Amino acid sequence: MGFNIAIDGPAGAGKSTIAKRAAQELSFIYVDTGAMYRAIALGLLRRGTDIEDEAALAAALDVTEVGICYMDGEQHVYLNGEDVSSLIRTERVSDMTSRSSAIPAVRAKLTDLQRELARRENVLMDGRDIGTMILPDADLKIFLTASVETRARRRYLEQAQKEENCSLEEIEKDIRERDYRDSHRETAPLRQAEDAVRIDSSEMTIEEVVAEILRLVNERRGCL
Ligand code: C5P
Repeated sequence: MGFNIAIDGPAGAGKSTIAKRAAQELSFIYVDTGAMYRAIALGLLRRGTDIEDEAALAAALDVTEVGICYMDGEQHVYLNGEDVSSLIRTERVSDMTSRSSAIPAVRAKLTDLQRELARRENVLMDGRDIGTMILPDADLKIFLTASVETRARRRYLEQAQKEENCSLEEIEKDIRERDYRDSHRETAPLRQAEDAVRIDSSEMTIEEVVAEILRLVNERRGCL
C-alpha cells in the first residue's frame, strides 16, 4: 500500500492546481478522478445516451473503457483508447459529468481503478468521495473548500484570460447548482470525512495551501 492522500471538496476550490503542485513536491502520483468521470460523460454525450434510460446507460457503459496514463508527470485520460484530456473541460461536459456521476453504475465503473492505483503507488487523489468512500483508510484526508463568491471569482478570471465570454452571475449560479447536485445526491455525496482536515482557501494563496498540505504530510509521516 502506498502513502495515500485524499483531497475532496467542491468545484472551484482550487483542488486540481493545489493537488498537482503538492504531488510534484512530494514526487507522488496525482490522480484527478474528476477527469475520469468527465471522460465517461464525454462518451455518453457522443453516443447521445439518455442517462435516465437504465438499459441504454448500461449498454453505453458496457462499451466505455476509461484509462489513465502519465506523460512527463501529467495525467492523461483515455476514452476507449483515445486521449480525450483536452476535450473534457467544456461547460457541456461539466454539466453532463455532474449528472452522470450521480448514478451508481457510473461510479462502480471507476471505483476499482481508483483503488488499484492507490494500492500500487503513493498517490494524491482528488475528487468528491475519496476520503469517504474510495480510500477510507487514507493516511491524510483534506477537505479543501472556499466560499462560493471566491470560487466564482476565480473561475471568472480564469475564463476571462481565455477570452471566453462569461458573466460572474452565471458562473456563480452554475457553481451553486453543481454544489447542490454533488452534495445532495444519494450515491457518494460530497461531504467532509470525519477525520479530514478542513482547509478554507478563500483567503489563502495557492502557495500557502500547498505549504499547509506539505506540513500535514510531514507531520503524519513523523518527519520533523
Ligand atoms: O473535479 P471536477 O470538477 O473535474 O469534477 C467534475 C464532476 O465530476 C464533479 O462536479 C462531480 O460531479 C464529479 N465527480 C465525482 N466524484 C469524483 C470526482 C468528480 O462525482 N471523485
